[in-house]
Amino acid sequence: MQNEKLSKQHLKQLKQLCNEAGIKLTHQRLEIFKELMAVCDHPSAELIHQRIHKKLPTIAIDTVYRTLATFDELGLVKKLHIMNERTLFDTNVTIHHHFICTHCKKVEDIYWSDFDNSTLPEVVKGMGKVQSRHLEIHGVCNDCLNTNEK
Ligand SMILES: [Zn+2]
Ligand SMILES: [Zn+2]
Repeated sequence: MQNEKLSKQHLKQLKQLCNEAGIKLTHQRLEIFKELMAVCDHPSAELIHQRIHKKLPTIAIDTVYRTLATFDELGLVKKLHIMNERTLFDTNVTIHHHFICTHCKKVEDIYWSDFDNSTLPEVVKGMGKVQSRHLEIHGVCNDCLNTNEK
């Protein structure tokens, strides 16, 4: 889904970040990263493992987990806990929110600058320092609504 130029930029970013963090860019890490950029969306570690298995048959799911955790620390992906049950990795690290279909579990991005820039309720200030705000909207997606009507 992403064009050639974009993935080259991503690759450059990956190399630079690994360099700065003193992390070796191993073949496995590189392949996992490429797979991540190829799938777009919000893949789970299991999905990445399944897909990468074709290229690297000996790779363990633990390696995929660890690598994704490293990428999360580097800011290359964002770890998401959807509805407190699934851990997904968001390849889109810009500020955005999610619409989650409770039926097919599809996750879609929502941009909502009004929300991002809005003043939080006073009560939040009394609770502590806000680091980020992420909104999950739960519903049934159009695809599922249309299938159910048939
Ligand atoms: Zn759906
Ligand atoms: Zn997202």
